[in-house]
This record gives sequence, structure tokens and C-alpha cells, in this order.
Amino acid sequence: MAKIGFIGLGNMGLPMAGNLVKSGHEVAGFDLVAGNVEQAVRQGVKAVASPADAARDVEVFITMLPAGKDTLDVWGGGMLAAAAPGTLFVDSSTIDVTSARAAHALAAAQNMLSLDAPVSGGVGGARAATLTFMCGGAGEAFAKAKPILEVMGQRVVHCGAAGAGQAAKICNNLMLGISMIGVCEAFVLAEKLGLSHQALFDVASTSSGQCWALTSYCPVPGPVPNAPSNNAYKAGFASALMLKDLKLAQEAAAAAGATTPLGAAAAQLFGLHNAWGEGRTDFSGIIHLIRGKAP
Ligand code: NAD
Repeated sequence: MAKIGFIGLGNMGLPMAGNLVKSGHEVAGFDLVAGNVEQAVRQGVKAVASPADAARDVEVFITMLPAGKDTLDVWGGGMLAAAAPGTLFVDSSTIDVTSARAAHALAAAQNMLSLDAPVSGGVGGARAATLTFMCGGAGEAFAKAKPILEVMGQRVVHCGAAGAGQAAKICNNLMLGISMIGVCEAFVLAEKLGLSHQALFDVASTSSGQCWALTSYCPVPGPVPNAPSNNAYKAGFASALMLKDLKLAQEAAAAAGATTPLGAAAAQLFGLHNAWGEGRTDFSGIIHLIRGKAP
């Protein structure tokens, strides 16, 4: 069993750290919010006073933070200096590719192993230990991280070199954001044409319109019982997080010289959905915006 440092005990980090403890690992945790640390302690995490304290005497160090600046602040803020050479640093936050590569460079300069390993699966996946980890970094870092990540997830994929995990995450969510808007437009058109939701679902779910946004998160209540649309659009995957990922995709596209016109339009539409006050609801609730009627 490993000694693990865990920074960022929020909606995702708290259940992830709890699953590590349940499987017998020794976890030292830190968060800026005292209440989050208290909850983690109730799950068997040992509280420490700073990220540097969490990095001392551990084999693996995991961060689960809001943005690239936070990862760079924490990794660059004394933690790398406190850790023993060869310690593995894993960042599971969803952040921009440029910051992810900068974090790898900080770790390499101190002779540490590092991996960017963002997740999909949301809070439900974090609790049930069914997350998918998308990893970027050297083979040695991936091999060392895999058994630890498998405790918190169902699939652990090595996507390539430093930053490749973040690249996979934002490319996937670019597809998802665009496809959800497409599914919503089709349902709203069907309503105007007098076609029932169920009839469209029955045809499209077994035809070429089939996609995850339709068959797992169908934006109208009825056809998919577990979809957030049947639960008053309670997230699920919050519209604010979809907007965050679409903005990251736009930043990456601008930096890499890629043309993503539908991604740009999707980012604008989710921006409007958030400005409507719907950021905390499920992203499939964007159907209300497409319909032009507040929920
Ligand atoms: P969250 O805001 O609930 O948790 C982040 C935690 O980090 C907070 O508890 C905050 O206090 C802590 N924190 C921030 N700066 C810190 C610092 N310098 N030192 C210590 N702690 C610090 O966010 P979350 O929902 O847990 O998401 C975490 C990451 O996972 C984000 O990058 C998010 O995009 C990604 N993600 C979230 C979901 C989801 O469904 N919530 C799904 C996939 C990926």
C-alpha cells in the first residue's frame, strides 16, 4: 500500500481520496476550505497543514484543483522541494494544455515523475470509483500511477506524452458540447413539426443520429429514465463545467492554429445558458435556451 498526498478535497477530490483510504492506502490531505478537510478526516484522511507537508514522505502526490493556475501554484509552491526525488506527481484537475505541460516541466526540473490525468465520470463516478482517467506523461510515470488510479476509476488510458491527457479530455468534451446542442435542436424542431419525443428517440437512437448525448443524457424527459432531464435537470454534468471545458478547447484551438467554428458557437451558447443563471443545472438543460423559453 502506498503513502499518498492529496490536495483539493472538493466535490471530486473528497470521494476520490476516500476511495484510496478504503482500499488501504495512507492518505495525507489538504484543502483551503476547513470544512472539506473535516469531511476528509471523517473518511480516514490524515489532515496536514500545507501542500508541502502532504508531499513529505509520500510516493504519490495527487492534485484535484479548479484551474491551471491552481495546479502551478500548488506544484510550484514548495511541494516539489519538499518531496523526495522520484516522487510521482499526478494532476487530475481539468486544466489548459499549456499549464499542464508547464507543471510537467516544473516536476522534471526537480527529478520527479509526473502525469496529467484528468477524469470523466463526474461526482457520481468519483463516488462509485468508476472514473475514466486520460493520462499524459512518460511510460514510467504511467506504469507507477496506473494501480493507484485504478482504485478510483474503471478505465485508465495512456494517451501519450505530457499534456495528452488534457488534450483528450477537451477534445472529447468539445464533441459532447456540440452534439448535445445538435440533439436539443432536433428535439425542438420535432416539437414544432408535431413529432413526439419518444418517436424521435426511438428512430434516432438506432439510426445515424445516435450519440451519447441522446442515449445517456437525453435532453427531454421520458425516453432515458436516468437522464438529468427526468430529475428537473439537476446535474449531472453542470453547464458551468461544460462552459469551462469549451473555453479550454477554444484556447487550445487558438494556440494550436486549429479551426473549430462549431466549438466556438457551442462555447457562446453555453455562455448564454450560464448567463441565464443556469450554470449549476445539467448541461442538457440548454434545450430551454434552444427552445427560447426559461425552464
Ligand atoms: P471543487 O471546486 O468542488 O473542488 C476544488 C477544491 O480545490 C476546493 O475544495 C478548493 O477549496 C480546493 N482548492 C483550490 N485551490 C487550492 C489550493 N491552492 N490548495 C488547496 N486546495 C485548493 O471542484 P470539483 O468539482 O471537485 O472539480 C475539480 C476538478 O475536476 C476541476 O478541474 C474540474 O473541472 C474537474 N472535473 C469536475 C467534474 C465534476 O463533475 N465536478 C467532472 C470532471 C472533471
